[in-house]
Amino acid sequence: MSDVLAGKRGLIMGVANDRSIAWGIAKAMHAAGAELAFTYQGEAFGKRLEPLAASVGSDFMVDVDVTDDASLDGAFEQLGARWPTIDFVVHAIAFSDKSELTGRFLNTSRANFKNSMDISAYSFIDVARRAHPLMVENGGTLLTLTYQGSNRVVPNYNVMGVAKAALESATRYLANDLGPEGIRVNAISPGPMKTLAGAAIGGARKTYKHTDQNAPLRSNATLEAVGGTAVYLASDAGACTTGEIIRVDGGFHVLGMPQPDHL
Ligand code: NAD
Repeated sequence: MSDVLAGKRGLIMGVANDRSIAWGIAKAMHAAGAELAFTYQGEAFGKRLEPLAASVGSDFMVDVDVTDDASLDGAFEQLGARWPTIDFVVHAIAFSDKSELTGRFLNTSRANFKNSMDISAYSFIDVARRAHPLMVENGGTLLTLTYQGSNRVVPNYNVMGVAKAALESATRYLANDLGPEGIRVNAISPGPMKTLAGAAIGGARKTYKHTDQNAPLRSNATLEAVGGTAVYLASDAGACTTGEIIRVDGGFHVLGMPQPDHL
């Protein structure tokens, strides 16, 4: 996909390190010719992001905590000041208290329910509302990341599953609101990946191994494959796709039971 994003500019939210899904997407988008800006959460992540951003030719980094309206406003003001229009935003942000990503879903606390929904689902709506004025001229693409714990029970995923269900529904509602402006809204749903957020979920290693061994392709998602899907969705090749949840999970979601040798 050599230069399918040449001339396009966008914001990548959610790079924590070089294993982040957002980083896989950033690398693929850069390789496809896009110009990138980044947000990061706090100083420590900023330090890690700096060399990564530089390696894809970007010095445009803004500190954003999505629970803080002022920091989101500031980020989009800076973005608009530097670039009059943008073509895409990648929202790869989620959080839940680790102590509730294990054991019974029944024990989800009100405080963590609200916080998980706020950071992992509402923030996509908040970002879309701020991003769309920068896209009205040429249209654009909003992308988020989800997981099949939204519509299937994945033990330990718990409240994140509920948040992902809300995020997927928000993807469809945003797609309908913003479609007339030529803005497409989609979610990529990878299988388990070895990232900071992924490691917070109870039994992550077992889940990773199970998917790797049982998926029809007998492999988990890679950063490259998720990146390639994001490039397709942000490019003109994805021109008629919106409101969609695209799985990049080695086909794991089609299974009704494990492969015979893993029963
Ligand atoms: P990651 O830890 O690399 O990225 C998560 C990011 O969310 C981090 O950059 C973190 O700083 C950011 N974040 C959390 N709270 C924030 C806040 N209040 N304000 C701003 N940023 C905040 O992990 P990842 O796996 O790359 O996660 C990216 C997305 O992919 C998430 O939505 C995650 O649910 C989703 N996803 C992950 C997997 C997996 O197995 N790792 C599978 C499917 C979907």
